[in-house]
Amino acid sequence: MNSKYTEQCLCGEIHYSVDVEPVFSGNCHCKDCQRTSGSAFIPAMLFPEKDVRISGTARYFETTADSGHMHKRGFCPNCGSQLFAKFSSLPGMLGIKAGTLHDTSRYVPTLDFHVASAAAWDAMNPELPKKPGAAQA
Ligand SMILES: [Zn+2]
Ligand SMILES: [Zn+2]
Repeated sequence: MNSKYTEQCLCGEIHYSVDVEPVFSGNCHCKDCQRTSGSAFIPAMLFPEKDVRISGTARYFETTADSGHMHKRGFCPNCGSQLFAKFSSLPGMLGIKAGTLHDTSRYVPTLDFHVASAAAWDAMNPELPKKPGAAQA
């Protein structure tokens, strides 16, 4: 069976595959995502963690978001590729960064969020709804 969402980090130490559809897909423009990606935003997909198969072990870096919730960002300890995210506000869910997808066309964003902190040179799709803050609430 071909998994719908599959790929690996840059060095190949970590692979993942998912067969279900994401429960959420959207672009996060918060300052933390800018810092950790070195880019304008992170294209984020959210899946039930139990549906994501992972080989290799990501290292997680934990921060407190403006909301007060813990946000853990998973990256390859060898090559530094950012792959995953876990949120204390979303137990049992795993975020996957869509730039890591083998077939990036599988990612269809539905929302731009945290746009209040977007960089001036962050060109967004005008068709997508915009939220100044967090995606939920
Ligand atoms: Zn790697
Ligand atoms: Zn963010």
